[in-house]
Amino acid sequence: MKNEQKIVYGGIDAGGTSFKCVVADEARTIKVEKTIPTTSPKETLGHCLEFFKTVIGSEHDLKALGIASFGPLDIDTKSAAYGTYLPGPKADWAGVDLFAAFKNVLGVPVIIDTDVNGALLAEMAWGNAKGCQSAAYITVGTGVGAGIMCAGQLMGKPSHPEFGHVRVQRHPADQGFQGVCTVHGDCLEGLACGPSLHARFGDPEKLPRTHEAWDINAFYLAQACVTLALSFRPQAIILGGGVMQSSHLFPKIRQHYSDFMNNYLGQDRADIDKLILPPGLANKAGLWGGIYLAQTLTDLSCK
Ligand code: ZN
Repeated sequence: MKNEQKIVYGGIDAGGTSFKCVVADEARTIKVEKTIPTTSPKETLGHCLEFFKTVIGSEHDLKALGIASFGPLDIDTKSAAYGTYLPGPKADWAGVDLFAAFKNVLGVPVIIDTDVNGALLAEMAWGNAKGCQSAAYITVGTGVGAGIMCAGQLMGKPSHPEFGHVRVQRHPADQGFQGVCTVHGDCLEGLACGPSLHARFGDPEKLPRTHEAWDINAFYLAQACVTLALSFRPQAIILGGGVMQSSHLFPKIRQHYSDFMNNYLGQDRADIDKLILPPGLANKAGLWGGIYLAQTLTDLSCK
């Protein structure tokens, strides 16, 4: 490290639509960032590597790279396949070794976890779940997934939860829709992700707030919150991702949650308002998740 170089950390929020790359210092000041469209693995990872290669050798000393990625992928640090995508909805990414792609080229420590685990860790460190011992982060975008922290432990390790694919009860006005999950059809993801809204109702961004689509979507997401609340008793359930940019969903989700619970946990409306929250880090929760992973990297022995 040259005297004039400043210590920085790299982060990637690897999503189905884009790979958001960032370099930030220890005080979380962003030095440089770039959004790269998710296309083929070779093209996408190539552009990401070019971005980080320009950082190395500049005035910055890149200490580590953290990647918060869509799944399913192997996040077991003791596994020979650590950082490799597993078969899932994105068929062309199955078998792609994310860890080797960055480790071999950049030569810095690389740590990989799911996008929702990363976003959850960042929200617990710096966002709306700060101070919580138990919390959950649900992403609702091109897919649905959840990261769950219970009394300081991420659930599902050494693997990760596949919470987006749990079963849900149908909304009375949504009986005929088959769902868009390529594996299950009408699981939670199949009924509540962005593409499912698009399939039934057209472009969600053009739907008026009064459209029944929002109540139907909130009905399913409230069930997800109920299941998490009853299973893990999180102190905060953060809902992020592209669909949740429609912030008018939150009051509807809280209302359905209240109706489903029927006061079972003794939560009044103020309690529910404090439980079901948007990300404090807005649409950068995943990106800061990558930085969090890079800054707190402890296990360098994998692979
Ligand atoms: Zn499914």
